Amino acid sequence: MTTIDMTPPDIDLHAPPRSLLVDGTWRPSRSGGVRLVENPALETPVAEIADATPTDVDDAVEAASRAAVEWARTPWTERARCLRRLAELLRTDADRLALIDTVDSGNPIAGSLADVESAASTLERVAGLGGQVAGETLPAPPGVLAFTDRRPHGIVGRITAYNHPLMFAVQGVAAPLITGNAVVLKPAEATPLSSLEFARLAERVLPPGVLNVVPGGAKAGRRVVSHPDVRRVAFTGSVETGRRVLEAAAASITRVSLELGGKNAAIVFPDADPDVAADAAVRGMNFTRTNGQSCMSTSRLLVHRDLADAVVERIADRMRSLTVGLPWDPDVDMGPMAFGGHLERVIGHIDRAREQGATLVLGGGRPTGLGRGHFVEPTLFTHVAPTMRIAQDEVFGPVLVVQQWSTTEEMVGLANGTPYGLTANVITSDLHSALRSVEGVRAGLIWVNGPHPLPPGTPFGGVGVSGLGREQGLDELLSYTEPTSVVVAY
Ligand code: NAD
Repeated sequence: MTTIDMTPPDIDLHAPPRSLLVDGTWRPSRSGGVRLVENPALETPVAEIADATPTDVDDAVEAASRAAVEWARTPWTERARCLRRLAELLRTDADRLALIDTVDSGNPIAGSLADVESAASTLERVAGLGGQVAGETLPAPPGVLAFTDRRPHGIVGRITAYNHPLMFAVQGVAAPLITGNAVVLKPAEATPLSSLEFARLAERVLPPGVLNVVPGGAKAGRRVVSHPDVRRVAFTGSVETGRRVLEAAAASITRVSLELGGKNAAIVFPDADPDVAADAAVRGMNFTRTNGQSCMSTSRLLVHRDLADAVVERIADRMRSLTVGLPWDPDVDMGPMAFGGHLERVIGHIDRAREQGATLVLGGGRPTGLGRGHFVEPTLFTHVAPTMRIAQDEVFGPVLVVQQWSTTEEMVGLANGTPYGLTANVITSDLHSALRSVEGVRAGLIWVNGPHPLPPGTPFGGVGVSGLGREQGLDELLSYTEPTSVVVAY
């Protein structure tokens, strides 16, 4: 038997300990409160960081409102230069930042490295779009000049989820910054470290107060949303919290965008190659990028009855070969869930699926041999009825469920049979089937024969309860501005 080296890797944190970044200054929380950050693979402490209170958020908003005036006046080309410089700094520091994310979140190291690159390339792409954020000249009678001027909101509140810590922090602030807003960023409490490290790099590039980082929990998040001076909030997280955000934003009529959960379908047509379908199903689960904790994961496989046995057998083979272990080991495919409470939720979903009569093909428990850590096995269920909770609820973990269909009508009914609508993947070699499905299936993003990497700038967001608004494209940048109409008589 081989023994596993359970020594945690050394990580090199540059952000001052127990600190928030407010107005260009690193300072403790006003309450003195701290939060312990844990390594989920070993259940050992990694760092103590400040736990921001609502008053800390108020301070950050005040700092942002001071900085926003000058930042909005700064030429966009200069703001773009700052974003490009930040991209360079991220790339130079990629190995250190990726290891921090891996130790903090449990994501496999290759996935964390890909997240750093994705963050850096988003900064460059958004920097390049800055000049396209323009108003328009409107048709008007002689003697009248009418145009719109796109102005930043002023202060943007950005609240992130825990599954891509650095990538979400960076991607989330790029569009507000290029459009001239100052930002208050509240990272997820389970994985705050790389947001603080990003802030450490950003203070070398951005004027004080333009980016403030307040790691904290729900109370801090609530204050970001309800502060009357925060005019635009962008939120990534669960549907449940998204509803609360929307309610809290109503008080000040704050503009909100929501990136929420998914229970996404991978749809296999009878003409598909079973090996291709099995590869797509496994890739679509993001086992090796975020341990299955991805809003984009196609966690429901809707397979045509004729192909079901062949595809399920191949998927089970592929899932069986995934190695679960310490995520900084480059030979490991899948790490732990990001925190203990989430592991319990995932196990709860699995237990309920069994109780409700789903057939467990693979996994279903904690892997043996690791001793500790919030690990769960890659898990596969078949004979899943549409009414079962496991067919309806987002697990946000490495659990794939299989449902069968015979007619296209039945397939579309299953695909659209949850309140979610984030992504879908259609696996077929017939263009006709592909286009018919694209017409009938409700989702913000539909792959055909995916999942493949999205071309940079592809708008991303959900329909139904999966969200409000789109990120990544030019529309995202425009959403951080308000058009002001100017009508001049001359
Ligand atoms: P969560 O809703 O528990 O928390 C998200 C963030 O909201 C955290 O920073 C949290 O501190 C904060 N928060 C909690 N209560 C708040 C409140 N009342 N007001 C304001 N902020 C509050 O979500 P999570 O568990 O961190 O993330 C997992 C969920 O996120 C899944 O549902 C997943 O699908 C979704 N997600 C969606 C996308 C997307 O792009 N659509 C991306 C990643 C994750």
